[in-house]
Amino acid sequence: MLAAHAAALGLRRALTRPSSGCLGHRFASAMVVQDSLSGQKVPLVDPARADSLSPLVWYSCGPTVYDAAHLGHARTYVSLDVLRRAAVVFHGTPVRFLMGVTDVDDKIISRAGTGSPVALAREQEASFFQSMATLGVAPPDALLRVTEHIDDIVGCISELEAAGTAYRVGEDDGAGEETGVYFSVGGFEASGGSYGRLRPAAAGSDAWDRERSPWKRDARDFALWKAAKPGELSWASPWGAGRPGWHIECSAMTLAAAGHRLDLHAGGSDLCFPHHVNEMAQSEAILAARRAAGSAGSAPGDAPAPEWVRAWFHPGPLTVDGQKMSKSLKNFTSVDAFVGGCAPGAGTRVSAAVAGRPAGDVFRLFCLRHPYRSAVSLTDDAVVAAAAELGRWTRFLDQAMLASAEAWGRAGSSSLRPVEDADVLAGAAAELRAAVAAALGDDLDTPRAMAHVARCVDTGLRSLHGGGAAGAAWALSLAAVVRAVAGTLADLGFASARPAAAWQGPLSPRPGVASDEVDPSSIGSALPDLVVGFRRAVRDAAMSQGGSAAVLRVCDAMRDDLGPRTAPSVDLRDGVDVTERAREFADQLAAAGQHDTEPGPPQAGGDEAHRAKQIPAQSLVHPSELFLGDEKYGRCDHTGIPLELADGTELSRSQRNKLKSLRKKHFTKWARGRSEPEVAEAAAFVRN
Ligand SMILES: [Zn+2]
Repeated sequence: MLAAHAAALGLRRALTRPSSGCLGHRFASAMVVQDSLSGQKVPLVDPARADSLSPLVWYSCGPTVYDAAHLGHARTYVSLDVLRRAAVVFHGTPVRFLMGVTDVDDKIISRAGTGSPVALAREQEASFFQSMATLGVAPPDALLRVTEHIDDIVGCISELEAAGTAYRVGEDDGAGEETGVYFSVGGFEASGGSYGRLRPAAAGSDAWDRERSPWKRDARDFALWKAAKPGELSWASPWGAGRPGWHIECSAMTLAAAGHRLDLHAGGSDLCFPHHVNEMAQSEAILAARRAAGSAGSAPGDAPAPEWVRAWFHPGPLTVDGQKMSKSLKNFTSVDAFVGGCAPGAGTRVSAAVAGRPAGDVFRLFCLRHPYRSAVSLTDDAVVAAAAELGRWTRFLDQAMLASAEAWGRAGSSSLRPVEDADVLAGAAAELRAAVAAALGDDLDTPRAMAHVARCVDTGLRSLHGGGAAGAAWALSLAAVVRAVAGTLADLGFASARPAAAWQGPLSPRPGVASDEVDPSSIGSALPDLVVGFRRAVRDAAMSQGGSAAVLRVCDAMRDDLGPRTAPSVDLRDGVDVTERAREFADQLAAAGQHDTEPGPPQAGGDEAHRAKQIPAQSLVHPSELFLGDEKYGRCDHTGIPLELADGTELSRSQRNKLKSLRKKHFTKWARGRSEPEVAEAAAFVRN
């Protein structure tokens, strides 16, 4: 099941065959991650072992499988998935990713009732991986289940007991029901260990007092082995029938499956204390005991010991109204509910914005727009904004593939796009991959990586909406931008980008269009290309010295083009004849006497009036792209409102507000007759 999931998620190829670097060889990657223990950025690949033939060994604490996964869990696993893709696909570092699954614990036993806890755990584990798959999270290379490692766990507890860092609590000391084996923090410290280094403030605080129990020697001690209650699921041990405590699982399973050293240990930030603090104490105590006995790969007395974990990686929590999303607070949205269209809050806007898109991609972009370590608030606005941005990118890819194919068809045209335009596109495409890899390599700076993607899309959109009829060079450069954007997104786990990432260029069929389905004589298949070309030609004509006469010539050419193939009037979805609409536009241009081709800076009144005249012809332009093709402007913000003029002069707040209100008007017209999800998504741009 896991292998099939990995293949489906596009990671299997990359896992077995790194895209760069030598086969089966650690690539000397420059990638760094912030180690939670030292607070420093450390190389992901240990420089001392960069030439090792073995992959990076990475363990992540996994779910306790008793109930459905929620978005709070999902944020952790999406962050880990992106780190894994960054290492494997963008930095060519082979990774062996192990995940622990807690398949026996109080909650599972209580939830199973009279049924089988193990059966419930298997069912919930399958459901967990299914939920993760819908979010594009690739499964681990190996699953470490607690119930399959009981012998290893019992062995580790025995070692701790022999070393004096564990003690038995039983009937003898009259401690009542709480019998079993406890870890002795005092014993650990007496033998030279240092407890709580991952979270010193928490580990030394009075927070432990609430857990003070008469059978503990120290308030910080914790259970390693819990004696079974009558009839409860249990395993035999030197301390009687029972089951493992939570923390010892991960130490014992990784020491058994991955040896004495992990390159990376990951888990949600809520696991840092006490879980990871306790894991660390146990593992260090066990390794010290093994070293003392000469069984940990070094002679007795060798010092100092290499650390158990080279880097700790802790993605931050997802919050709702300032509180961590959790089962206990009952403020959670399950992954399945989210994918099914339910919202974090009131939700109709989110449902509308997410509808028709892969919800996993929306959630992934929502996560990637924030630093992985920060607490992130799950709000309707943030989810809608992510959906809108994803929609903008997807639309660009669709439009660009169409336009590239159409431009290629005009390779012989005398009116070619200036070669500089193709160069700009080619440059943007060539730089994207390296820029994204560099951002990801710098402690997984996903907001910066996403900003690079957005800028590349903007460059593509500007070229798409500007300029004249385009030639072969432009078509190929635009195709390169499509592949760069879609390839980057697909490699980051965005399922919706995969078809465009596989597109071969203007001579190949576009995704979803089989080559034998394309009939050049069919107006149905030709119409989208014609409209894209027509729209561009109308715009060029309007901006040219020719004014309305030039627009009319384009309209006539369009009629000629359509003539042999269809009835004289072609209705678009909103029932408007495009050629008639263009004629209206030409008339308005003539009436307004606005034919100048030297657009000045935006001015109050006159400029807006001029703009308003253009709106009818632009009614097919998505509101987020209204100003992107306009040569008058330079950089735009993420919603598509220009920040500056083409010459770099910054626009004032009032100038920007005018453009915003202009766009609101455009939005009102654009929205007519469009579907609710489309409108909700566009509204996210306009509202900002
Ligand atoms: Zn763990």
